Amino acid sequence: MLWMELPDGIRRITCPLPTRPGHVHAYLLPGEEGWTLVDTGIGLPDASERWSAELEGIEVVRILVTHFHPDHIGAAADVAAVTGAPVYEGELDYAQARMVWGNPEWPQRIADWFLTHGVPRPIAEELIESGSVYAPFIRYQPDPALVSHGEHLDGWELVDAPGHADGQLCLLKDGVLISADHLLGRISPTVGLWPESRPDPLGDYIRSLERTIELAPRLALPGHGEPIVDPVGRAHALIEHHRERLGVAEASLTATPRTGYDLSFELFGADLKAASRRFAVAETLSHLERLVREERAVRHEDDGAVAYTARQLGRRASA
Ligand SMILES: [Zn+2]
Repeated sequence: MLWMELPDGIRRITCPLPTRPGHVHAYLLPGEEGWTLVDTGIGLPDASERWSAELEGIEVVRILVTHFHPDHIGAAADVAAVTGAPVYEGELDYAQARMVWGNPEWPQRIADWFLTHGVPRPIAEELIESGSVYAPFIRYQPDPALVSHGEHLDGWELVDAPGHADGQLCLLKDGVLISADHLLGRISPTVGLWPESRPDPLGDYIRSLERTIELAPRLALPGHGEPIVDPVGRAHALIEHHRERLGVAEASLTATPRTGYDLSFELFGADLKAASRRFAVAETLSHLERLVREERAVRHEDDGAVAYTARQLGRRASA
């Protein structure tokens, strides 16, 4: 793993990731009480050995998991065992971690849900497989200390940033935002609709970006990629990006109902593997649900099948 010293005594540890983007950052935050470790990397088979080597001579007093995605939560139980430190996690996020990673029925639940959104059965079956690939690499900590927005951990304020994950938490102190996957420098964080997720993740995400603009941090330290020196500018750019994508999604709607799967080809192209199609469909759906709430699309549910149409042009003209 790779070390980097950052401003304000913060240390970055880069963990390998077998999938794109090939790495994920954890951060060590200095405090009165000792070090707070933010995120843990994916639970590769040698995660315990790697972490005990990395943390030799460093007193970690707590571990915070920013969200339950495999590359952030995966080695949480390993690092807790290595350090003896308690794990902190948001309440909703822990509930979702259990629902997704602690539930053998979940891959089937996801596949059934994709079927309702027009994904052909063979592709839905393939999605079960690609979803199960992560299971051996996730060792989340059972019964973490549950925390929420506005609480402080050794001087760091916890800030809710739902969107990329419903329970995504960031930390803020002296203008430095540990942004996890809420704000990334080059990549637009995925914002998908999933079964049992909050109903309007893209609306959540845009509000979270607006909150970032209000908080006006001077530096953001993301889960992937380099530090972001203009977090406010980046938040504005991401809002603009999603406004444009909403326009593309709206323009793809017709009077004939189209499914999220079908429309994902308009937004993300035809050339995607199953794992990527999974995210493309989820992200297309988050845009469609936002359009429904902005009265720019209509959702239809018929016999367990969900599809979307354009808002009637006549109604919009007369509105
Ligand atoms: Zn994530």
